[in-house]
Amino acid sequence: MHGTSRTSAPDMWRLRHLGVADRVEIIALGGDDSAAISDIAENGYDRIYHLAAESSVASSLKNPAETVRANILQTTEWLTAIRDRSPQTRFFNAASSEILAAGPGILDENAPRLANNPYAVTKSAAMNMCRVFRESFDLYVVTGILFNHESELRDARFVTGKIISNLCRMAGGKSEPSFELGNVDAERDFSHAQDFAAGIAASLTADTAQDYVFASGTLSSVRDFFNAAARQLGFDPTWSGKGTDAKCVDNLTGRVLVTINPKFYRPIDEAGKAGNPGRATAVLNWTRDIDFEAMIARMIAFYGNK
Ligand code: GDP
Repeated sequence: MHGTSRTSAPDMWRLRHLGVADRVEIIALGGDDSAAISDIAENGYDRIYHLAAESSVASSLKNPAETVRANILQTTEWLTAIRDRSPQTRFFNAASSEILAAGPGILDENAPRLANNPYAVTKSAAMNMCRVFRESFDLYVVTGILFNHESELRDARFVTGKIISNLCRMAGGKSEPSFELGNVDAERDFSHAQDFAAGIAASLTADTAQDYVFASGTLSSVRDFFNAAARQLGFDPTWSGKGTDAKCVDNLTGRVLVTINPKFYRPIDEAGKAGNPGRATAVLNWTRDIDFEAMIARMIAFYGNK
C-alpha cells in the first residue's frame, strides 16, 4: 500500500492511531506534478483512492487558485495518468455535499448542483471530469459525494474538532477560558468517517462504476453538536441571545462555555443539506454503524486523553 504526501517525512500520527503506519509506504508528491503522478500510476495499482485535496472551505476562500490546482488539476493528472499508464486501475474520487444545491427533501446523486465557494467549484468540476473520463475512456472511476464525515482524527480547523477539543480542555480545568464559534445555526448531515471509509472501499468492488452519495439522511445544527458534546462531558448547556449575541452557559456552574464571533461566519452559509444514501445501500449493501452520539463519544475519548 502506498500513500502520497507533500513532504517525504510526514507526521504519521493519524496512520499510527489507526494502526496501519507500518503497512504504508509514503511517496513524496508535490500537488499537480504530472510527471510524478504518471510515474506513480505506472506501478499498476488495483485501486487508487484519491482523497488528497484542499479540503477546508475556509482555506479555499483564502487561496482559491491553489485550491483549483490541488483539486481540479491534480485530479485531472491522475485520471490522465491512469488512462495512459494503467487503465485497469479502479479510481475513487472524493467529492462533497458542498457541490449540491440545498433542496426540499434529501439529496441523491442526481440532485441539482450549486457551488457557493471555491472548494465547491473545484469539487464539482473534478466530479464532472471523473464522469467524462469514465464515459470517454471506459475507465472504472467512481465519485463519492461525501456529506460531513467527522472523527477523532479531525483537526480544530473544522467545527467539530474545534468544539470537542475546546470542551475537553474546559472540562479539564475550571479556570480554562471559554471559546468562540461562528454560525451555530448552520446545519450539516454528520456521520463518522469510519463508516464512509467502508463505503468508499465497497464502491470500487461493484460490477460497474457509478457515483454514490454517502450520508446519514439527518440534519443536525452546530448547536446540536455542541450541546450533545457538552452534555456528554457533564455540562448542562443553556443558550441565550440570538445571532452574534448568543452565548452558552453551563447551567450547573454559571460558567460561560462559548460566545459568538462574527469572524467565524462564512460569506455564504447556505441552508442545511441532508443526503440520501439509498443507492449505496441498495448496490453496496452499505449502512452506518456509528450514530451521532457514538461519534461524539469517540471524539471525546480521543481528545480527552490527549
Ligand atoms: P464544512 O462542512 O466542511 O464546511 O465544515 P466546517 O467544520 O468547516 O463547518 C461546518 C459549519 O460550521 C459551517 O456552516 C460553519 O459556518 C459552521 N461554524 C460555526 N462556527 C464555526 C467555527 O468556529 N469554525 C468553523 N470551521 N466552522 C464553524
